[in-house]
Amino acid sequence: MAADRTKFILDEERIPRAWYNIAADLPSPAPPVLHPGTGRPIGPADLAPLFPMELIKQVVSQDREIEIPGPVRDAYRLYRPSPLFRAHRLEKALDTPAHIYYKYEGGSPSGSHKPNTALPQAFYNQQEGVTRLATETGAGQWGSALAFAGAAFGLEVKVFMVRSSYDQKPYRRVLMETYGAEVVASPSPDTAYGRSVLAELPDHTGSLGLAISEAIEDTVTHPGTKYSLGSVFDFVLLHQTVIGLEAIEQMALAGEEPDVLIGCAGGGSNFAGLTFPFLGRGLRGGPKPRIIAVEPEAAPSLTKGVYRYDFGDTARMTPLVKMHTLGHDFIPEPIHAGGLRYHGMSPLVSKLKEEGRIEARAAHQRATFEAGVQFARAEGILPAPEPTHAIKVAIDEALEARAAGQPRVILFNLCGHGHFDLSAYERYLSGALEDYEYPSAKVAEALKALEGLPVG
Ligand SMILES: *Cc1c(COP(=O)(O)O)cnc(C)c1O
Repeated sequence: MAADRTKFILDEERIPRAWYNIAADLPSPAPPVLHPGTGRPIGPADLAPLFPMELIKQVVSQDREIEIPGPVRDAYRLYRPSPLFRAHRLEKALDTPAHIYYKYEGGSPSGSHKPNTALPQAFYNQQEGVTRLATETGAGQWGSALAFAGAAFGLEVKVFMVRSSYDQKPYRRVLMETYGAEVVASPSPDTAYGRSVLAELPDHTGSLGLAISEAIEDTVTHPGTKYSLGSVFDFVLLHQTVIGLEAIEQMALAGEEPDVLIGCAGGGSNFAGLTFPFLGRGLRGGPKPRIIAVEPEAAPSLTKGVYRYDFGDTARMTPLVKMHTLGHDFIPEPIHAGGLRYHGMSPLVSKLKEEGRIEARAAHQRATFEAGVQFARAEGILPAPEPTHAIKVAIDEALEARAAGQPRVILFNLCGHGHFDLSAYERYLSGALEDYEYPSAKVAEALKALEGLPVG
């Protein structure tokens, strides 16, 4: 009986044949992306130096379904469909009437959901004659995924890795190098922007915004090179929808409809990947579950940021996008959930939040590790520090259901494993975990940099 099952597994044949494009179902389009120089909406020609044309087309497409190319679907076979689990043991530990499900993306080769977009990005570039990709990575998950995808489709990969992570996570670097990528700490001496930062501050620990600036500079100064990114952009969210499309089928196998969907949100891609296919069903008249994005208190763009135009990077090289932002100069404290340390948020996720179609909550680092350890002891999987944010809220929801004496079906995205994050767990277990509160003064300061930019 479905009620007794722990794993809901789909056959390889059930890997989706198309990604789901939420633009087709949104009642109004997202605000346009603006050129940083002219302030006018950008066109395909502005993006062409950075991305292959197929990806640019996906950003402007209004088609509900965008076909997944055969070679990408074949590479997905290495780890898709990913399993959906019913957390029977966590339910028991919490003594809750709620049913808790999680979609597990940590079984991919690089350990997170990121290959879902790294593989198509590498494929389309290779198809259009690109030989080398440049990118940035914070915690190392994205760099690992793109290095794997580069190996899969025969492309060189250069990764600018935020200095603090480069020093804290040597094994992520070794994984990328094993796949054949070149990795440098950012700020680096390899770009003019990196050299200018190092000249002023030789000990700069780096930031994602700074590493993006370096990767873009590398791209436009190296022939045959294009830029890849692991979050925020619409086509990244599109590729991640394989998660939710599979989950809809798997929940049907379980014979249940989720009442609440939960994902952690850094740039918004794993959250969107799980939730957009469900949101789309709701927009087309189907069931409308509550949907919650969870972010760190230390980088609270959705819960404490402003919704207006900002740059995606520190050097103001990216287009201007309307999003929830803390300001492009904001450098979050070095929380262990490195993938959630970003000043902005996907424009699509931001719009949905602004329209009240999704909720957002912020969680403190200590509470998320507590939830992660409780989850590991019940379910066995050691979560990455990022999805412990989703786990924290899933547990809160289950405890609320218990207090109310009500059933509740909860589904969250377990978007990566934490095997490269053991030093963070060690700090938590030994009582040495850092306490970072909401950085109100720093946010107020960083938001000043938005003066003079279009409001939208
Ligand atoms: C990159 C990453 C994130 C944050 O990025 P999103 O685009 O918000 O998903 C979260 N969790 C893991 C495991 C990651 O690798």
